Amino acid sequence: MAVLVIDKRKRPLMPCSEKRARLLLDRGRAVVVRVHPFTIRLKDRVGGDTQPTRIKIDPGSRATGMALVREGGDGTEHVLWLGGIAHRGHVIHDRLAQRRAARRRRRSQLRHRAPRFDNRTRPAGWLAPSLQHRVDTTMAWVKRLRRWAPVTAVSQELVRFDMQRMDNATISGIEYQQGTLFGTEVREYLLHRHQHQCAYCAGLSGDPVLEVEHVHPRSRGGSDRVGNLVIGCRDCNQVKGNRTAGEWSEALGRRSALDRARKANAERISAGKRPSLRDASAVNSTRWGLFHALKATGLPVAAGTGGLTKWNRQRLGIPKTHALDAACVGTVEAIEGWSRPVLAIRASGRGSYQRTRLTRHGFPRGYLMRAKRVRGFQTGDHVRAAVGTGKKAGIHRGRVAVRATGSFNIQTPNGVIQGISHRHCTLTQRADGYGYHVQPKIAATKEEAGSKAA
Ligand SMILES: [Zn+2]
Repeated sequence: MAVLVIDKRKRPLMPCSEKRARLLLDRGRAVVVRVHPFTIRLKDRVGGDTQPTRIKIDPGSRATGMALVREGGDGTEHVLWLGGIAHRGHVIHDRLAQRRAARRRRRSQLRHRAPRFDNRTRPAGWLAPSLQHRVDTTMAWVKRLRRWAPVTAVSQELVRFDMQRMDNATISGIEYQQGTLFGTEVREYLLHRHQHQCAYCAGLSGDPVLEVEHVHPRSRGGSDRVGNLVIGCRDCNQVKGNRTAGEWSEALGRRSALDRARKANAERISAGKRPSLRDASAVNSTRWGLFHALKATGLPVAAGTGGLTKWNRQRLGIPKTHALDAACVGTVEAIEGWSRPVLAIRASGRGSYQRTRLTRHGFPRGYLMRAKRVRGFQTGDHVRAAVGTGKKAGIHRGRVAVRATGSFNIQTPNGVIQGISHRHCTLTQRADGYGYHVQPKIAATKEEAGSKAA
């Protein structure tokens, strides 16, 4: 994992290798600023040469991938740092539902209050709190990375596929079979439209292989336009053969459930009916919200499509993870050094304002401590505990949960260790609303060596 570096005046320099960071620290030329992500400050340097560095973002509903890359002149990218943010949108959603229920109870059951006239409006660009949180956490990390690395540009995956290009687009059989950029994008579009299911049998045939299928066969003059394409399983595709959807529907009987499903769907497809693109706007509103927030930073923002990301990933032989998807966003010729550990960042929140714990029915069950800090520690701090003797002997690193007694729990990657005294603990990083752990790197296969040539 690359080490982020800032100079004496806390301005960002180019990240360095772990080995170099160790040398600098050993010689006393640098001090540790943070552990996650590991950042050092050079004590004797002011300014230095920096190269164009780009933050790349792949926003998702549960997790957002981030990559920091150095841009070579020839379209080659050198990955410097990888991270994945796990969002807590569902937690926020649940908490708000709970608050709503508690308020409703207070208003209706405990004393009567006449309903208010609902004249409240929402500003333009409003997002639900659980969605706004995704934009906010991603922006928080963009701001942080800008403090520790010389970022000059941002790339974001904005849409899944280019809708404008999809209308009336023509795609030849060779294109999608050989996986060109446009072929990948059309295939993604069709898969999304049919929800990764065969348009004829909806999965009843049991064949898991999905293919792009011509409603009016190409061999009989059917066009390559997207309007003439659906997703079909290989079985349906072969059984249908050289017939149009309409001819196939008429030839099919009603003997089995499979035949009935195929007959009804083929008839519908023949009549030009296609499933509508649902929920695309809900996903996209968050992405557009992030796009506008990124624009507001003043950095140049490049937008990519999901089809382009997937095409890059497959062409360069890179495995699918959130962080590596981020590295594949946008126009890129080759990616080097992608096989490196990923910093898994979990948005955990900063605890609750509410000091009263409630039962399921909203009655008080117990009370939290008034002070958040115990013996200099706070829940969420990262600590290192060195226990000399006893059953829990050893060195434990992780997120601490404090108790008023001074006996803490430590959440390590291998599970929770209970009842560690504050006397054994040393602080490694203050709680900042995120949990961290480093995921080991995915080894590069043979393809990666060839990715430069591809
Ligand atoms: Zn099928």
